[in-house]
Amino acid sequence: MTNFHILTLFPEMVMQGLHTSILGRAVERKYISIEAVNIRDYTLDKHGKVDDYTYGGGAGMLMQAQPVYDAWKAVTDRIAARQAKRFCRVIYMTPQGRTFHQELAQELAQEEDLIFLCGHYEGIDERVLEEIVTDEISIGDYVLTGGELPAMVMIDAIARLVPGVLHNTDSAVTESFYDGLLEYPQYSRPEIWHDRRVPAILLSGDHAKVDAWRMEQSLARTRERRPDLYEAYCKRNGPDSKSMKKLDKKL
Ligand code: SAM
Repeated sequence: MTNFHILTLFPEMVMQGLHTSILGRAVERKYISIEAVNIRDYTLDKHGKVDDYTYGGGAGMLMQAQPVYDAWKAVTDRIAARQAKRFCRVIYMTPQGRTFHQELAQELAQEEDLIFLCGHYEGIDERVLEEIVTDEISIGDYVLTGGELPAMVMIDAIARLVPGVLHNTDSAVTESFYDGLLEYPQYSRPEIWHDRRVPAILLSGDHAKVDAWRMEQSLARTRERRPDLYEAYCKRNGPDSKSMKKLDKKL
């Protein structure tokens, strides 16, 4: 089981988004838990303020250190009361972090507790980040208004790798990125749609041939769409892999 704790100024946004469909069912069945902690509840300011101007000038407001720190402390104290160990990874969502990818999702799915810190406005006072954050992660080279959507993206990707969350454990294993390749094309009923036929091999009932066709398709698709991934796959698997030789002959 993985417990996701989200420190945010907009708890309703993440709770609504993460409690539907597959993740909603996973929460009900206790494979994962998701809590949103409202940073504003921890401010010592009597007007409920959590942000202020930046020293040195510049546009926009910055989230202050105190409410963020106290919200984090409340969550880590609760985790420590439940587990013997106190250490828990704290992920700050930031466009300045390393880019999120599937391998990192797999690594994080092994953790019992994960804390996500969502910034807003111009971001968060650097001093509290230095004190509590273990990982700075970006979901891509663009700037969003807040860390809530990035945290939801990460939690979705991580949660579906937690055992029990997906009914069919195979689906995570055959998907894009699992072994460094993009997934093969897939088809459902009817057999003919807009004059387009499902590839005959998929109707043959010959599982070995279907598997070989899918592997070939994965390799061809990755080579065409993501040459960087294809090159890395070739390096890992050696130049004389059977499926790659077959693909080379065809192309
Ligand atoms: N001033 C910050 C900078 O230039 O690095 C950007 C602040 S952004 C407007 C507000 C918040 O959105 C950030 O603190 C972060 O939590 C979140 N955010 C924005 N873009 C993101 C991205 N690509 N990945 C992860 N988090 C992001």
